[in-house]
Amino acid sequence: MSCPLCLDDRPPRHELRAHDADLVRCRQCGLVRVEPMPTAEAAAALYDDAYFRDAERGYVDYVADERVFRQEFRRRLRQVRAAGGRGRLLDIGCASGALLLEAQAAGFQPSGLEPAPGLARRAAETSGCPVIAGTLADALLAPASFDVVTLFDVLEHLVDPVRALRRLQVTLAGGGLLAVTVPDYGGLWARVSGRHWPFITPWEHLVYFTRRTLRGALVRAGFDCVQFHSARTPLSFGTLAAKSPWPDALVPSSWAHRGVGLPAGTLFATARAP
Ligand SMILES: [Zn+2]
Repeated sequence: MSCPLCLDDRPPRHELRAHDADLVRCRQCGLVRVEPMPTAEAAAALYDDAYFRDAERGYVDYVADERVFRQEFRRRLRQVRAAGGRGRLLDIGCASGALLLEAQAAGFQPSGLEPAPGLARRAAETSGCPVIAGTLADALLAPASFDVVTLFDVLEHLVDPVRALRRLQVTLAGGGLLAVTVPDYGGLWARVSGRHWPFITPWEHLVYFTRRTLRGALVRAGFDCVQFHSARTPLSFGTLAAKSPWPDALVPSSWAHRGVGLPAGTLFATARAP
């Protein structure tokens, strides 16, 4: 398969093997990805309601940990506003609606898109915002219908990230702002951890971006004015315990759904639609 970023079709270099899967690196642009890539249908099938409360596949308990995510979304939305983001906002992969609630409080007019049907329903009920139940590939999104698109921790799950970004570029009004976060494969944490980095989860994370390859994907999809911002990686103590070798018993139950924003592990960029 050719590289989903630069379309180079030479055989890629082997990068590492983890969880019985191989990651490879494109010889031309350096993009790291799973090899072989699943089909788009197989990749999308992972995101049902159970994904959000299944430590093996996805989140330990997304809804219970919502407070930890909301805190970080509040910080990211402040940076979106500082970058000039205003108005109609579409949150891709809105889960139970944590970002929709924060976006409303910050003065945006938010809508959501979420493939897991139960979570999409919950997001609509708790926020009162319009929420489309479906995937980005299937959703009918009118051209130029949003001023801001947030794509937080989604792009690395997609088989063809450049194609998804192109769709979002068309969905944005002229000069509209895309805000995107991905795990930071080029950061110090990833580099010192190698194949043990906790975000190497090849059944769900198909593409591993660095600053350079994320910028490349945004530019190739037609965005300009790419800017990087600081972001934290929100993690509840319960999730830390479940995903680490430490015994669960170290975290008292009253602390399981509190958490921290780790000051590493996440790349955060904004870019403008032309
Ligand atoms: Zn490439």
